[in-house]
Amino acid sequence: MVEDLWQEERAQQLQDELDRLVYRSNLLGADRRVCNWKGGNTSTKTVHRHVDGREIEVLWVKGSGSDLATITRQGFTGLRLAEVLPCFEREAMSDEEMVEYLLGTMLHPAMPRPSIETLLHAFIPHKHVDHTHPDSVVTICNLAEGKAVTQEIFGDRVAWVDYMRPGFRLAKEVGRIVRSNPQLEGVFLGSHGLVTWGSTHREAYRNTLAIINAAQAYIDERLSRRPVLGGSRCRALPDEPCRRLLAQVLPALRGAVSRNQRMILHVDRTDTVLELVNSVRGKELALTGSACPDHLVHTKYLPLWVDFDPGREGSEELKRRLVEGAERYKEEYLRYVEAHARPGDPKLDPYPRVILIPGVGMIATGPDKEAAENAAGLYQRAAAVIRGADAVGTFASMSPKDAYDVEYWPLELYKLTLAPPERELSRRVAYITGAASGIGRAAARLLAAHGAHVVLADLNAEGAQAVGREIEEKWGRGRALALPVDVTDEEAVQRSFDEAVLRFGGVDIVVSNAGVALAAPFEETTLADWERIHDVLVKGYFLVAREGYRRLKAQGIGGAIIFVTSKNAMVASKGAAAYNAAKAAELHLARSLAEEAGASGVRVNCVAPDAVISGSSIWSSRWRAERARDHGIDEESLEEFYRRRTTLGVNVYPEDVAEAILFFASDRSGKTTGCTLTVDGGVAAAYVR
Ligand code: ZN
Repeated sequence: MVEDLWQEERAQQLQDELDRLVYRSNLLGADRRVCNWKGGNTSTKTVHRHVDGREIEVLWVKGSGSDLATITRQGFTGLRLAEVLPCFEREAMSDEEMVEYLLGTMLHPAMPRPSIETLLHAFIPHKHVDHTHPDSVVTICNLAEGKAVTQEIFGDRVAWVDYMRPGFRLAKEVGRIVRSNPQLEGVFLGSHGLVTWGSTHREAYRNTLAIINAAQAYIDERLSRRPVLGGSRCRALPDEPCRRLLAQVLPALRGAVSRNQRMILHVDRTDTVLELVNSVRGKELALTGSACPDHLVHTKYLPLWVDFDPGREGSEELKRRLVEGAERYKEEYLRYVEAHARPGDPKLDPYPRVILIPGVGMIATGPDKEAAENAAGLYQRAAAVIRGADAVGTFASMSPKDAYDVEYWPLELYKLTLAPPERELSRRVAYITGAASGIGRAAARLLAAHGAHVVLADLNAEGAQAVGREIEEKWGRGRALALPVDVTDEEAVQRSFDEAVLRFGGVDIVVSNAGVALAAPFEETTLADWERIHDVLVKGYFLVAREGYRRLKAQGIGGAIIFVTSKNAMVASKGAAAYNAAKAAELHLARSLAEEAGASGVRVNCVAPDAVISGSSIWSSRWRAERARDHGIDEESLEEFYRRRTTLGVNVYPEDVAEAILFFASDRSGKTTGCTLTVDGGVAAAYVR
């Protein structure tokens, strides 16, 4: 049951009606069973005093694109009600005309565009109106026998309106019914949701909850009568084996759903979802259709269902079926588009947004992590609706034609355009070693600023986490994953790539950067020093590149591997034989891998910096003192010494090297592999030839 969170004292302390509307909206949005992400809208009709003293009636209604859970005053739009109401007399009104008309009644042009469902609020002759898509009500609204069940629960307190797409016609129909039936407390919209109201904020809120809970009680009683969804057909895989399985199959799935444009994946194993995928009737019901028009843009009309027996089958079978399934889904989706498209309709991505697997759960996809999580959140709602509907009667979705009309509705597509334009590395995942400081940190910041999700691998776990927090604060939740990794430990490197795959579905860019340095005269170089240097710089680069390449190859959509080498890879400097040799080995390793990886569209390139001192953990170590000694100068003069040594007379900073990494990470270098780009201020001996 949904809990009543209203605190009248708090509501009274708020400064005005708009603040109370924000409060009411946030309470409704706080429970996703009441209000799915960005779904639903609320309104209040109030009197507004103009600067010239005139009093006008204003309809405050949610603007397009905000979420009731977090909406603030700025999320609402004020419309001059006296100018909106006359259009109730109209017979019909196209969407375009309606939008134009409403824009003309706004109090201020800088307010957000009013919700598509604004007229619904305007035409209902009550002060406070809530329109939500609550699980329990949507369940009743998606029953073949929904109208009769509504009557059975609520008698003549709640009216039923058959499905029609939101817009003028639905608003007028609901307005007409409410105006001529003063006893009504709410309206159920077939295949869609709930409309409720009240004369005070508290009354509206409590009426909304009362209807939701009455519907829930009715469903719960039926759920207790027989096994849910026909009983269970298989058991959920325990978490650990499931993680191992997913680490194996997700890169192939990500590749399969990214043929048109790259997608980020999100794994969801919540109880409601597992119950659906493991049930006897889950497949049939999930493939019946969408539960709410509000889900469609993010989940599509149908999920991809992949048959799998978690007790008897393994990763190879599942991988094959996921890849075949994604292609089959695409074909069917294109047929659905062909059957319903009108001239001029855009072409949306044809791959599934929701993938259901018995024993495993759901994998949702999206242009970024947050969008993938939101698609999963919406499908959790669908799973709850399907579960309840199957207990009460026959789950019946809207028709494919109606679904298409919502999915390709210009007004819904407009909502998508409210998102900021995609950045150069959006939809990509970059795995970076040594990301807690210096060049690695600068690269992580720059790639994230260009839209990439970043995996921050570093021995220094705290440092990596700090960089992760900074990036998420700036670029949004889910953008960074910090992992403690010792690049010389084969298992640790494998595990870190598995973690990246489980979080994002795969990887697109691998930056091998973690390093150490040590200087010593040749005859004094110990075997331990030699091995330590080669462990980190050669074995480490090998392991990171190999694990990265395996996953890039499994995805089959190309990718970029970047080695941060050094000027010393090409020029021997005195007193650093072990370091020079190891850096030269990296360079040749990159060239060797470039040769093998080319056929998979994976590019391998090197960035060769020199003397990048600032922010580097290497340069705060013994290396600084050793290099100063070798050059016969004191430590403080080292920056100056290196600057003078360059052709351009400049110092090189981590941010300079990050720019070269960005170039090789992006499609700007799409036809370049096996290459080295120097970032050294110009060192004639290291000119690449
Ligand atoms: Zn709605």
